[in-house]
Amino acid sequence: MLSVFYTVDVEVWCQGWANLDAEFPAAFDSHILGRTSRGDFGVGFQAELLREHGLEGVFFTEPLFATRFGEQPLADIVGMVQQAGQDVQLHLHTEWLDEAPQPLFPHIGHKRQYLRMLPPEEQRQVIEEGLRLLAKAGAPGVNAFRAGNFGFNADTLPALAANGIRYDSSYNACIFGRDSGVRPGEDLIEPLELDGVIEVPVTIYRDGLGKLRPVQITACAWVEMENLLWKSLEAGRQSLVIVSHGFELLDASRTRLDPIALRRFSKLCEFLGRHRDHFRCLPFGRHTLELTHPQPLPLPSAPWRGALRLMEQGMRRLAY
Ligand SMILES: [Zn+2]
Repeated sequence: MLSVFYTVDVEVWCQGWANLDAEFPAAFDSHILGRTSRGDFGVGFQAELLREHGLEGVFFTEPLFATRFGEQPLADIVGMVQQAGQDVQLHLHTEWLDEAPQPLFPHIGHKRQYLRMLPPEEQRQVIEEGLRLLAKAGAPGVNAFRAGNFGFNADTLPALAANGIRYDSSYNACIFGRDSGVRPGEDLIEPLELDGVIEVPVTIYRDGLGKLRPVQITACAWVEMENLLWKSLEAGRQSLVIVSHGFELLDASRTRLDPIALRRFSKLCEFLGRHRDHFRCLPFGRHTLELTHPQPLPLPSAPWRGALRLMEQGMRRLAY
């Protein structure tokens, strides 16, 4: 049995920081609702499709935007996820810290793009504030975390433990994982316990060109993902962590549906729903994970599968 984590980072972005209040309603429509002329394909859509297939995903929800725009939009997101029987967990984008009318840290007057830029005590405080906001919005039982932009470091794990958070999925060997200071000199692939937190790294694989890639809906062809699911099972791996976003099924304009991303997501849901005897898609606290030492190597994907991904991406560009 392989533990599959379908993780959705739920966050709102305006076009820059200059005109936030005017742009927020449209940003919420595109990044949260996933509004297009063909219907809504955002957070609610992904949550419902997972439910239809008997799957439970993890929606890492960014709450700091509520310090600027109020609690209602955050409560709406939490309601949307929970109504579909899905799990709300904590995601933090520290870019919002200097945008609140009453900032948590008045001394921070310019952008902090990554949580790792904050000293340990401030990391602890901002995680505490995120938990407070989510609890007020209707999600009190948070036990898992992912840093925005995967921008965590070794100080983040004790800060999570101090807040009672048991699972972290901020480690991404393709981004900051290697220089996070967490287990330097090796790539984390499988769950392990560090500083009182179980780190469940984003799954990476080696593509046909030898490059490491995260398992993400917009970055992986469906056949690559299917191949990895079977290969991980055969290799006796513990976990496979898939990354998505609330707006993952929209194209780069964030106004149109990306039919290829939708097809990949639909195929994944059908596959996981059909093969429940081999793959279990549940929130973090409901998996039984055996912690792995030493860490295995990333699994490879056959070269032709990478070629297919490039072809699919070419088709996506031609589609508009
Ligand atoms: Zn994010």
